[in-house]
Amino acid sequence: MRIVFLVLDAFDPVRLSPRLTPNLWGWANTDGAMAGTGQAVMASCTYPNHASFITGQLPAAHGIHTNHVVRDGKVRGAWEVGPAVPTLFETLSDRGTEAVLGDHHLIGVMRAATADRHWPAAGDVTQVDDLDLLGYPSDQAVLPHLVKALSGDAGFVFGYFGSIDTYSHVYGPDSEEAIDAYREVDQKIGVLQEEIASRWEDSVMIVVSDHIQDTVAGPGIDLHTALGEGVVVIDEGSAALLSGGFDVDLLTSVAGVQGWVSHPDGTTLVWCGPGRYFGRSEEPVFLGIHGGNHTRSQLALVSGGSPARFPLSAAVRQGSVPATYWANAIRDMMK
Ligand SMILES: [Zn+2]
Repeated sequence: MRIVFLVLDAFDPVRLSPRLTPNLWGWANTDGAMAGTGQAVMASCTYPNHASFITGQLPAAHGIHTNHVVRDGKVRGAWEVGPAVPTLFETLSDRGTEAVLGDHHLIGVMRAATADRHWPAAGDVTQVDDLDLLGYPSDQAVLPHLVKALSGDAGFVFGYFGSIDTYSHVYGPDSEEAIDAYREVDQKIGVLQEEIASRWEDSVMIVVSDHIQDTVAGPGIDLHTALGEGVVVIDEGSAALLSGGFDVDLLTSVAGVQGWVSHPDGTTLVWCGPGRYFGRSEEPVFLGIHGGNHTRSQLALVSGGSPARFPLSAAVRQGSVPATYWANAIRDMMK
């Protein structure tokens, strides 16, 4: 039995349709398949959710609350630190594992270098010749590596396409450019389908997204000025991570702040409502963003021909599958 775990960054489950995404629609409508929604961990950013996908743990356990983390008072990329708990690449090592990730930082975020094979090697994007608008490996660059992984004998293959997130950020989640990205990702699903067809009966296919996106209007919410010097503020779309001594009650007086939670590690995660974002700039840098409570919806799709798919599709049928569900279900399945 082989498990293929595919992430389509920022894929909004409401866009799954026979017209826009016919290949995925086909996967969702095979015998024993199910498509629905999942729920992101907070912040609804890419790296906390990928750390949860690959460990089955909440951010409180794996330590990645936003795309950046605070360690010893310093801001570091989550990819420099990695998750604090074991990943599927480690626990499934006797089954053979492979990761093909169109975001080179995910190699570190998911500790994918511990897989039997991973791409891009060591998360080094300078080895990739086709990068997208935001400097990540394009889906076109990812595709041949993912096809190759699927032709091999790894029992667990993790793949990632990032173009929907990139185009939704730059042009907005409802833009023609973003919709075209859905169409093109679905065409790549069709190419993957050709590769896996002969092994369909032996496969479990899991296709998820990590979050959706929201169209921003502004203005930005400037926590740097509101909280003053001495507080580390990491702006991440409609979420922000704070560290340092300050009175959290100050947050009640900041217009646009919708909620917050303080963590045992001393950091506080803050989020705002639809249309707003955290940052010093009056004008948004991106037209589409995520991070807050309102972008936690995920695609959750289970397909394939292996009987091992049934408990997973039953979980999807119940609705709102937590991002932490998958790794634990996969571990149980592979016992
Ligand atoms: Zn994003």
